[in-house]
Amino acid sequence: MTKYLIIGASAGAVGAVEGIREIDPSGEIIVVSEERIVPYSRPAIGEYLSGKVDETSLSFGLPHFWELNHVKVELGKRAVTVNLQEKKVDLDDGQSLNYSKLLLAPGAKPIVPKIEGIERTEYTPSSISKMQMRLGEAPEDQPNHHRRWWLNRNCGS
Ligand SMILES: Cc1cc2nc3c(=O)[nH]c(=O)nc-3n(C[C@H](O)[C@H](O)[C@H](O)COP(=O)(O)OP(=O)(O)OC[C@H]3O[C@@H](n4cnc5c(N)ncnc54)[C@H](O)[C@@H]3O)c2cc1C
Repeated sequence: MTKYLIIGASAGAVGAVEGIREIDPSGEIIVVSEERIVPYSRPAIGEYLSGKVDETSLSFGLPHFWELNHVKVELGKRAVTVNLQEKKVDLDDGQSLNYSKLLLAPGAKPIVPKIEGIERTEYTPSSISKMQMRLGEAPEDQPNHHRRWWLNRNCGS
């Protein structure tokens, strides 16, 4: 039986799982993501920050997509090493996962241009996890739009 390992659990991984299941209904599929809420719509990160939508409204695709496609999902874990010879990937929790076929779908990182004074904007709104981390640092007793203002002022947007 083929064992598929996918790093990243977002749009790329969802498309890959759909494609795999079209040709291989019974292969084992494992998806690993360092994030805990997946998959979700990144375009809606701004609306999440402004308080217009909550975490649960962000997900896209079918509810229970992973279960319906018999995918084992390892959340909150980061792939740290890929060993192509041994066909295994090490995760940051000490676990090692073997695979027959590996897909790296870790997305991309925004480029922050070198502009004087931009050091404060060391932060880009590319994931809900990162936004939640920053929101956790914002004053808790403030309404959402004040917290968003705080975020923009302190981290850039
Ligand atoms: C604010 C914003 C607005 C956008 N708006 C639009 C839009 O309007 N239209 C449009 O078409 N596209 C838009 N995009 C782009 C779109 O979201 C991306 O093209 C799409 O999410 C890419 O999917 P992906 O699966 O390749 O990667 P991603 O969605 O980036 O997912 C990759 C996942 O892999 C995880 N990961 C990375 N490294 C590791 C590792 N080592 N171990 C485990 N997990 C790892 C990441 O944390 C992430 O969860 C937007 C993006 C952002 C940030």
